[in-house]
Amino acid sequence: MWRYCISAIACAGHAITESVAPRRDRRPAVTGVLELAGIGIGPANLSLAALCEEAGKAERTRFFDRKAGFSWHRGMMLPGARLQCSWIKDLVTPVAPTSRFGFLSYLAARQRLFAFVNAGFETVSRTEFADYLGWVAGQLPTLHWDSPLRDLAFEAGAFTAQVGCERVRTQHLVLGLGHEPAFPACLEPHLGQGCLHAAEFLERMPAIVGRHVVVIGGGQSGAEIVLHLLRSAKPPASIAWVSRRSNFLPLDETHFSNEHFTPAYVKHFFELPADRRVTLLQEQRMMSDGISPSTLRELYAEVYRLRFLEKVPPVPRLLPGHSVVGCTSWRGALGIELRSADTGAGQRIVADLVIAATGYRVALPPCLEALGIAWDAVTGTPMLGRCYAISWDGPAANRIYLQNAGRVSHGVADPQLALLAWRSATILNDALGREVFPLGTEASLIEWSRHSEHNEACSICE
Ligand SMILES: Cc1cc2nc3c(=O)[nH]c(=O)nc-3n(C[C@H](O)[C@H](O)[C@H](O)COP(=O)(O)OP(=O)(O)OC[C@H]3O[C@@H](n4cnc5c(N)ncnc54)[C@H](O)[C@@H]3O)c2cc1C
Repeated sequence: MWRYCISAIACAGHAITESVAPRRDRRPAVTGVLELAGIGIGPANLSLAALCEEAGKAERTRFFDRKAGFSWHRGMMLPGARLQCSWIKDLVTPVAPTSRFGFLSYLAARQRLFAFVNAGFETVSRTEFADYLGWVAGQLPTLHWDSPLRDLAFEAGAFTAQVGCERVRTQHLVLGLGHEPAFPACLEPHLGQGCLHAAEFLERMPAIVGRHVVVIGGGQSGAEIVLHLLRSAKPPASIAWVSRRSNFLPLDETHFSNEHFTPAYVKHFFELPADRRVTLLQEQRMMSDGISPSTLRELYAEVYRLRFLEKVPPVPRLLPGHSVVGCTSWRGALGIELRSADTGAGQRIVADLVIAATGYRVALPPCLEALGIAWDAVTGTPMLGRCYAISWDGPAANRIYLQNAGRVSHGVADPQLALLAWRSATILNDALGREVFPLGTEASLIEWSRHSEHNEACSICE
C-alpha cells in the first residue's frame, strides 16, 4: 500500500503519533492540510484522482477506500456482461482527451489497440473496463486502501476525516461512496443463505443446481442473472423471473434520449423546479434502468431454445407485471407472495434461492449529519449546488462535494458512467477556484432552454 506522511492517529485509543510510513515515490511528504480528500474510490473518485494527477495537484490530494484494493462490482462480473455506454466516456477523455489515463492509452499499454479496433465491438465487456479502471488505479500514488471512513468533523478551518487508522485534515471533501443494495422490505428478515442481493451473486456463489430459484427485478442485473442461470451447465430445477414493470423493458439508448446524458441537459435539468424534475425522472427511467437490447435478444433466444427446441427444464417462468408483496419461511424454503398489477390476483412461488436484483440506494455515512447538511424537502436527499457541493453549516471556503448522489438534482445521467469525467472536472474546477479543465458550453442539438447556456454560476458554491 502507498503511504504518505499524514498526521496519523492510531486506532482503538492508542496515542496520537506522527508517522512517516514507507514511500515508494519521490513526492514531497504531505504535511498539514490537504487541498482535497476523496472518500471512496469507485469510478467516480478514481476519475477525480486521475484528473488531479493530470492537473499537477497530486501533491495535495488523497483518496481513501475501505477495500483492500481496486475492484468494480465484482459480484456482478458475469461472463459476457457488457458496458452500457461508450468506452469513450471513460474516466478522463471527455474533458482531457490527451490524458494518459484514457481507455485508448490503456489498450496501447496492454498492446492490443489494433486487435481491439479490428474486433469492432459495439460495446466493451465489463471485465475489460474493470481491468482498465484497475490499470488507472495502479498508476495513482494518491490512493489509500484499507481505509474505511470512521468519522468526520470540522475544526480549525478544515475537515478532519478519520479514515482507517489515519486522521486526515483537508480543505475540501469529496464523498464518492457509491450506492448500497436495496431490497423489498419483506425480504429483509430472510437475508442469508437462501436470499441475497444481485450485488453479491458471484462473491457468494450460491449453489443453484437442482434448486428452485426466483429472480426478482426486471432491470439489467436481473436479466444478466437469469441469462447466466439459463446457460449454466448445471442448471437450477426451476427459474422464475419476477418484475413489477409491465414487461421486460429495453434500455432507451436512442439518439435523442442520449441527449439527456450531456452537460447541456444537466445544466438545464438543474434549473427546473423540484416537482418538474421528479416527473421527468419518472418519464426518463428506461434511459438508465432498462435492459440492454442485446441482453434481451440473447434472453429471448435462450428461452425459445429451451422451450421449443430442446424442451428441457428449466424453462423459466416469466412474470412481469407482478409485485412481491410478502415472503414467508415455508418448509425450509421461502414462499414468495406475488400480486398481479393487471388482475390483482395473488399467487405464491416456493423458492430455495431468492436473488433480489432490486436496485441500489444512495449510501451516506451517518457521520455526515454532524456537519449540519441541508436536506431537500421534496426529494429527501442532500441539497446539491450546481457544482455538486452540499449546502452545509460551515464556511463557504470549505466544501463537501457528493459524487453519484445527484439524480434528483442533476438528472438521470448522475448514477451512470457517461458524465463521470465532466462531473469530476466540474468539482475540481470549483474546488480550485479556476477552470483547470475548460468545460465551455458544448453544442446540443436540442434547445433545452436559454438559461442553460448563460447561467454558469454555481448557486450554492458562489
Ligand atoms: C453491476 C453494475 C454494472 C454497472 N454498469 C454500468 C454501465 O455499464 N454503464 C454505466 O454508465 N453505469 C453502470 N453502472 C452504474 C455506475 O456506473 C456504477 O455503479 C459505478 O460503479 C458508480 O461509481 P461510484 O464511484 O459512484 O460508486 P462505486 O463504484 O460503488 O464505488 C464506491 C466506493 O466507495 C467505497 N466506500 C463506500 N463506503 C465507504 C466508507 N465508509 N469508507 C471508505 N470507502 C467506502 C466502496 O468500497 C467503493 O469502492 C453499473 C452499476 C452496477 C451495480
